[in-house]
Amino acid sequence: MQRGIKVLLGIAGGWIPQSILINLTGQHFLFPFYHTVSNTPLPHVNQVYRVRSFASFTRDLDFLTGHFQPVGLEELRAFRKGAGKPSKPCMFLTFDDGLSGIYDIVAPELLKRGIPAAFFINTDFIDNQDLFFRYKASLILDRLEHNNYPRAVLENFQRRYHLMRAGRINVRELVLGVTYRRRAELDEMAKLVDLDFTAFLKVKKPYLSSTQISELARSGFYIGAHSRDHPLFSDLAQDEQFFQYRDSLTLVQQEFGLTYGLFSFPFTDEGVPPSFFTALSAEGTPPMDATFGTAGLKEDPVDFHFQRIPMEVKKIPASRILKGEYTYYLLKGLLGRNKITRE
Ligand SMILES: [Zn+2]
Repeated sequence: MQRGIKVLLGIAGGWIPQSILINLTGQHFLFPFYHTVSNTPLPHVNQVYRVRSFASFTRDLDFLTGHFQPVGLEELRAFRKGAGKPSKPCMFLTFDDGLSGIYDIVAPELLKRGIPAAFFINTDFIDNQDLFFRYKASLILDRLEHNNYPRAVLENFQRRYHLMRAGRINVRELVLGVTYRRRAELDEMAKLVDLDFTAFLKVKKPYLSSTQISELARSGFYIGAHSRDHPLFSDLAQDEQFFQYRDSLTLVQQEFGLTYGLFSFPFTDEGVPPSFFTALSAEGTPPMDATFGTAGLKEDPVDFHFQRIPMEVKKIPASRILKGEYTYYLLKGLLGRNKITRE
C-alpha cells in the first residue's frame, strides 16, 4: 500500500528537481540499499525481489552520484554525532545478504567510480554453508514454474499439506508463507520438486566466500553483519535477537579484522522493542558504529540507527524511487508523521 503510493508519487512528483526536494525535506543524508546486480535471472532471488541489471544499476549510480556525494564511515560517524547539514547532500551506499554478485559485478564498478559501500553478511551463509530460507522458497517456486507446475507434483503438495486445491496459487501461497520458525519445511518441500539445496550451493555458489569478503575489506569496502541466518527480528525472543546480533557482528569483526561495527536488520527492524536499541548503545562489545533499517526515508529516534531506501522496486529507476520517497516524506511531514515510533 505504502509502496504503491510512493510509486505513484514518484511519477506525480517527477517534475520537481531532486535538489529542491532535498532542501524542502531537509533530508541531506541518503541511505540507499540493494542486494545484488545480475544480467541473468537468479532463480534463488527472483521470487523475493527484483534484481537490477548492470545497465540499470549504472544508470542508478549516475543519478545518485549526480545528486549525492558518496561517503564512508567517517562522514557517517560525524553525521551520527550531529554534525548537521553536510556541505553537499551525501549518501552511504549499502548491500544486504552477501551475495556473490557483489564481488563479481558490484564491487568492480564501485571501485572504478570511487564509491564507498558497506556489504552486510549473514554469517551462517559465508562460503555457501547454507541458504536463506526465502531463497529456498524462491528456488522451489522457480523449479515449479520452469516445469509448468506439473499436476502430479501439485497433487503431492495438496496431499502432504492438506491444501483445499491442487492449484498453482495454493502452492505458491504455501511456499511463500513459510516463516523462519517453520523453515525446515522448505527442505521437505524441496524433495517434492526434486531439488537439492546442497548441490545448488556447491555448484552455483550464490554467496561470497570468506576469501572474497577479505579481499573486499582490503579494497576499502566496509563489511557489516546482517544476523546469522536472516530471521525476522520481531518474531524472535529478545535473547535470540541479541544472539543473532552479537554473534554475527563479533564473527565478521574477528574473521575480517574489523575495528568498526555495522549491522543491518534482516527484513525490517519493525517490531523490535526500544529496549533492544537501548541495550546496544549501552554495550561496549562488540564495537558498534551504526545499525540500519529498511523503512525508507524516515527519521529514527535512535541516534545510531538509520533507515534506508529499498532501491529494487520493480523496474523503477532510482530517480523515480527517490522522488516518490521524498514527495511521500513531504506529505507525511504535513501530518507530522516522519519519525519512527517504537513501543
Ligand atoms: Zn537481507
